[in-house]
Amino acid sequence: MTEHFDAIVIGGGPAGCATASILAQHGHNVVVLEREKFPRYHIGESLIPFTYPALEKLGLVPLMKDSCFIKKYSVQFVSPSGRASQPFYFYNRYDRETIAQTWQVLRSEFDQILMDNARSKGAQVREEVEVLEVQKEGDRFVGVRAKDKDGKITEYRAPITVDASGRQAIASVQNGWRRGDPKLNKVAVWTYYKGAKRDEGVDGGATTVAFVPDKGWFWYIPQHNDFISVGVVAEAKYLTRDGVKDPQAIFEREIKQNKWIEEHLACGKSNGEYRITGEYTFRSQYCAADGLVMVGDAFGFLDPVFSSGLMLALKSGVLAGETIHEALLEKDFSAAKFTEYGRVMSEGIENMRKLVYAFYDPKISFRTMVDRYPETHGMLTDCLSGDVNKDYSGLHRASSDWTTVPDDLPYGMPLPSREAAATA
Ligand SMILES: Cc1cc2nc3c(=O)[nH]c(=O)nc-3n(C[C@H](O)[C@H](O)[C@H](O)COP(=O)(O)OP(=O)(O)OC[C@H]3O[C@@H](n4cnc5c(N)ncnc54)[C@H](O)[C@@H]3O)c2cc1C
Repeated sequence: MTEHFDAIVIGGGPAGCATASILAQHGHNVVVLEREKFPRYHIGESLIPFTYPALEKLGLVPLMKDSCFIKKYSVQFVSPSGRASQPFYFYNRYDRETIAQTWQVLRSEFDQILMDNARSKGAQVREEVEVLEVQKEGDRFVGVRAKDKDGKITEYRAPITVDASGRQAIASVQNGWRRGDPKLNKVAVWTYYKGAKRDEGVDGGATTVAFVPDKGWFWYIPQHNDFISVGVVAEAKYLTRDGVKDPQAIFEREIKQNKWIEEHLACGKSNGEYRITGEYTFRSQYCAADGLVMVGDAFGFLDPVFSSGLMLALKSGVLAGETIHEALLEKDFSAAKFTEYGRVMSEGIENMRKLVYAFYDPKISFRTMVDRYPETHGMLTDCLSGDVNKDYSGLHRASSDWTTVPDDLPYGMPLPSREAAATA
């Protein structure tokens, strides 16, 4: 059986539903194929200020403001000895009612909101449909083959397919375009604590990043149901030292490495589920090919220390949606149509990635850098808040006093068409 659409979106997570919402809003016939039944669990719960423009484009700001998600006003860093930095309050730099307003979300609920939004705008969202293969005719991608929960196989055809399959990155993996980043190859182990300590008042919704001496860090993210999402990130060989492999045992050993974490968790209790993931940080060599574009984690996944994933997922979904809308009007589904999309997303990811490298280098501390170069304070704040498409060369130059700033990775532009490659 074959069905035809203007656009097919693989995956109904934030990036996929953002793309579909924009397309449906423009009146296009778009289908989202999602293998899970929502609401479903997902990690990635802390938003950053510059997620706001995408939420606004999707028409979701009023809903977010009325939601029970905990408002996040600040971020703080905690040394291994347990000393907390002065929290950075977003509203000291951005408008309190717009950019500075952000949230700690429960992904089962947040992703459901995004999916309902896509449906309400007219996208067809089909749950429990797994895409098995992205299909090609010659050099052009023409759709997907997918299986529903009863095992029925359907071919979906469209002039453009959007890979929003998250870290599964189905199109990129199928085509051998996925590129890892060996320096950021970390492992995360996490759980949820009920009744653990929260800071008072406006600090109650802060994200805390707490250091494990020279090795890694904890996240501590308060959520609205008296749960705290808490996890540790470090290299696998450090976390599993002395042969410890069990996620709970790994987690419990690391708690003792940071006094603030130990003290905050002492009055709470884990829900008993310990989760683990590896395969950190990768990029697709190309952002698009003829008839295909990649968004969100399926395009690139960056180490989550600065909580940039959802901002990048929603931003890429909105931008890709607008570009596909133009492509549909012009009937131009060539890879080259996504050149600007690839440039914008790659620039943003690279600016953030350079700060992630600096974060993991014990030779540099952002505080020391700002003390020597006070003009970097604003730049650092803007980049970490997700305003990633600006010229940060001054910031990266300053950090090179202490650390080696990585070169931009040569990834993220559209796959050159055969004719263009032959001419070149
Ligand atoms: C340990 C960890 C901590 C993180 N912390 C944060 C954080 O604090 N803040 C933040 O912003 N980000 C964080 N992230 C990143 C964040 O989780 C992702 O960036 C975000 O979920 C990306 O959204 P997406 O829509 O691209 O992908 P996803 O949210 O993964 O959605 C992809 C969807 O595609 C579906 N799918 C996959 N394959 C198929 C298929 N073959 N057929 C049909 N459907 C398919 C999946 O079921 C899924 O629903 C973290 C990530 C990790 C690993």
